[in-house]
Amino acid sequence: MPPSSLLQSLLLLLATTTTLLRTTDAALGAPSAPVTATLTEDPQVSFITPQGAAFKQATSPATVTGGAEWHNWHDTVICRPGFVASPWTVEQVVELVKTHPRVRVVGLGHSFNTLTCGKDLMMTTLQMDQVLGLDKLKHTVTTQAGVKTRNLIHWLRDRGFALPTAPYYIDQSIAGAVATSSHGSSVVFGSLSSLVKAIKIVLADGSIRVLTEADGDLFSAAKTSVGALGVVVELTLAVQPNENVWRGLHHIDAQGILAEIQKAEHNALAFERVHYWYSPPLKGAAVKTTVDDLSHKHEPLPNIGEATSDFYYRTVANSSLQLVLFRHIAQMMKDPNTHTAATYVMLGHIANILPGTYKLSDALPAQQVLETDLLRSVYGKYDQYEFAVALDKAHDCVKSLFELFDRNVTNRDDFRVPFCLRYVGPGKEGLLGISHGGTRFYLNMDNYDVYNRKGFSQSMQVIKDLMASQTCEARVHYGKASIFSPMGGAWSTLDARYVQDTVGYDVYARFVAAAKTLDPAGKFADGLLIPN
Ligand SMILES: Cc1cc2nc3c(=O)[nH]c(=O)nc-3n(C[C@H](O)[C@H](O)[C@H](O)COP(=O)(O)OP(=O)(O)OC[C@H]3O[C@@H](n4cnc5c(N)ncnc54)[C@H](O)[C@@H]3O)c2cc1C
Repeated sequence: MPPSSLLQSLLLLLATTTTLLRTTDAALGAPSAPVTATLTEDPQVSFITPQGAAFKQATSPATVTGGAEWHNWHDTVICRPGFVASPWTVEQVVELVKTHPRVRVVGLGHSFNTLTCGKDLMMTTLQMDQVLGLDKLKHTVTTQAGVKTRNLIHWLRDRGFALPTAPYYIDQSIAGAVATSSHGSSVVFGSLSSLVKAIKIVLADGSIRVLTEADGDLFSAAKTSVGALGVVVELTLAVQPNENVWRGLHHIDAQGILAEIQKAEHNALAFERVHYWYSPPLKGAAVKTTVDDLSHKHEPLPNIGEATSDFYYRTVANSSLQLVLFRHIAQMMKDPNTHTAATYVMLGHIANILPGTYKLSDALPAQQVLETDLLRSVYGKYDQYEFAVALDKAHDCVKSLFELFDRNVTNRDDFRVPFCLRYVGPGKEGLLGISHGGTRFYLNMDNYDVYNRKGFSQSMQVIKDLMASQTCEARVHYGKASIFSPMGGAWSTLDARYVQDTVGYDVYARFVAAAKTLDPAGKFADGLLIPN
């Protein structure tokens, strides 16, 4: 099918969906109970009625399974702990922590590495999935750890608020996203960890502590804890009114990206909320999304990507039309001509970030469930890598990367899914925050080779070597693949040492000191970042 007919199909699908209601939780894969807000006497503050949590407490004991396996989201990581537990309440978390000598806590397992694994108890906080309250005066929201980022965004949107920044992927748990410094593109607000105002955490002795700015390094360490300090059960995050913004879409090429990175070195703020999607097989063609404030008001558009996903799951999924449509799209994405396949993937991507006036919550680029499902079912398992380069090195580093493609040292065809390139500022990053110390340019790339074709990706290896070299000295994302292992899932002591090198020994030592204060016996230590 030529690109024009794909575009027509997409536009038809989009047009049909604009009348649809907003996505329901059920359409998001893992449903969570709807929450009801009741206003207290102070109209500025709304609280959620606690029936949900109380009901769970009364009826649901924590499930603890012995000898169970734990898998990450697409089975590239399998852990074999002694026990896997799903507590519903903070009291159950306390009880479990007290009765196990070693604990690793996980969210939705949407990380690409073994940092999540533990040998004794692995506990997920997913059952604690209530948003607890919105303070309209202070502009903060308080949420339980297991709430999906997507559900939090919807909950806030229904009340006229938005997260100031959000990752492209929003189907992880909010505590998991914060623990790994997950991010979108924001020079001003930084990563999700930067939004944290307070953290309620269950410590190794079963005590419950609320950490805030007043707790200095303990708070700073807990913002990007990688699960190594305790079980985070609640988070209070900064939010902002859900204003109308303009989302722009621009064509750019490799040279254009390099020129903009050079400008960002001197004026990073000019690149607030800029994303680039760079497709290697399309010979460096890329698109750029901007999200700016508006000086004039237009009627905001609905979130078309979300409406399309919603339409698909409500109407097409499990019908005979699904077979035809899914097969059709899958065939296009699998086209043996990589250039053609990459064009289709890019067009699908563009359909999700069409320009226009949107509410901020809808304007921030976000991967729709349909996109995740399509990529997963068509291309299968993959490793996701993310490298964060200091702005003063970013131009030369990215130029060297582009040259690898130009010289055919890395094969363009190995990357059908476009790289996502973003700017993330230091905001109020935690000690291990990936942008701690200064704005960085982030390069996200998905590699399918190791699981689907060759067992080893020469193209990816060359890129990893470049990223670890003095040209880039890239920091790595704690939720992503290893920079040293050929199969990205298995993080090793080399990766842990690399984190220390790139974060800086003084900063790392402050993190370890905080860990020793909060968890003296290393109950939550992961064995790599914090030895146990
Ligand atoms: C398709 C895809 C796209 C992605 N895109 C982005 C992106 O755009 N930007 C980005 O930054 N990241 C992205 N990620 C990475 C993802 O945001 C992180 O890996 C995130 O940590 C996953 O959250 P989770 O709930 O699945 O946590 P898990 O993967 O289960 O755990 C991650 C870490 O959080 C800790 N943790 C989880 N819950 C708690 C808790 N309650 N208390 C203490 N520690 C806890 C764990 O110990 C572990 O160290 C993407 C992931 C996928 C699968």
